[in-house]
Amino acid sequence: MTKDKKMPENPVVAVAGATGAVGAEFLKVLHDVNFPASEVRALASARSAGKELEFEGCGNVSAGKLVVQEMTSESFKGVDIALFSAGASVSKAMREAVVNAGAIMIDNSSAFRMDPDVPLVVPEVNPQDIQWHSGVIANPNCSTIQMVVALKPLYNLSRIKRVVVSTYQAASGAGAPAMAELYDQTREFLDGTPEDELTINAFQHRIAFNCIPHIDVPMEDGSTKEEWKMVVETKKIMGDADLAVCATCVRVPVLRCHGEAINVEFEDDVTVEQARAALSSAHGVQVMDNLENCEYPMPGILAGTDGVFVGRLRRDNSVEHGLAFWNVADQIRKGAALNAVQIAQLLVS
Ligand code: NAP
Repeated sequence: MTKDKKMPENPVVAVAGATGAVGAEFLKVLHDVNFPASEVRALASARSAGKELEFEGCGNVSAGKLVVQEMTSESFKGVDIALFSAGASVSKAMREAVVNAGAIMIDNSSAFRMDPDVPLVVPEVNPQDIQWHSGVIANPNCSTIQMVVALKPLYNLSRIKRVVVSTYQAASGAGAPAMAELYDQTREFLDGTPEDELTINAFQHRIAFNCIPHIDVPMEDGSTKEEWKMVVETKKIMGDADLAVCATCVRVPVLRCHGEAINVEFEDDVTVEQARAALSSAHGVQVMDNLENCEYPMPGILAGTDGVFVGRLRRDNSVEHGLAFWNVADQIRKGAALNAVQIAQLLVS
């Protein structure tokens, strides 16, 4: 579908990767926002063909079971919006079929995020960028999304020169099997299974009772690809190629919701009070910040929520105009499925 073609009021939606962690959340979010779909198709690999998924309904689609179909290049005939979360190689393999079918692909993988003809969109930050798509819109990396939602209202107070971020990323960020591995390994560990007999598939090391500073593949400069993604994607979404970003990405034994410790350096002075006021009134952000009362965002209490939660706001005195804070978001909702469905809502509106 070209950007000039009008999106129907009641689009046909395909969920590609419907049996996965993000795919399951797509189905929930479509229901939660009552997306005005006329049809929802569940697609996955041949392994899942025929499997039935519960769907609570949305738009003109009644609640009931969706039968999973094997995804092939024929699957997109009649589809208007294809929500993709089946991994980068599948997105690359299906791009042509989706676009030729006249659909718009909203892709959760890293396949096209940095392509110059593909907008990388977070609706709270750069909704205007959906206008220049040519059939594919990319959903940013989950860690990037929750960071830029918080950075944008601050950037509006004063240009941000530099961001230093350390992430605390949940196991489910690596997919449904990775979350199962955290449960199983924790049980094995507590049962006294020797280290060399633990089941380790999803991560480089044991994730139970551990932290792993290694997400995605190594890059030549000693960083990881997850860290690189946070650097280049933030510049693209914020539209500021000179914004300096340094990221350290760490996998932690949390089931769901990423946390991020963020330090920003502004061009001009911004007080903590100004930052708090800007964040409090920003769309998609919820400030949860009362250290005296032990109130701050935590992954353990925020799974299933939609906002980007910000707390521990304080001045960073190590630089002239510095601010430090902590944020938490459910990376399967705002970091993936919800953000993509919000992009679809922009297309329909
Ligand atoms: P997942 O739980 O492992 O699910 C993968 C999905 O892709 C399953 O539905 C699987 O179907 C399907 N699939 C795999 N190979 C396929 C093929 N050849 N043809 C058709 N379908 C195929 O993974 P996930 O966590 O949902 O992640 C999916 C994508 O979203 C990845 O690109 C990931 O980087 C991105 N993402 C994930 C998160 C997160 O927090 N998990 C956040 C942001 C972005 P079967 O069940 O049939 O195998």
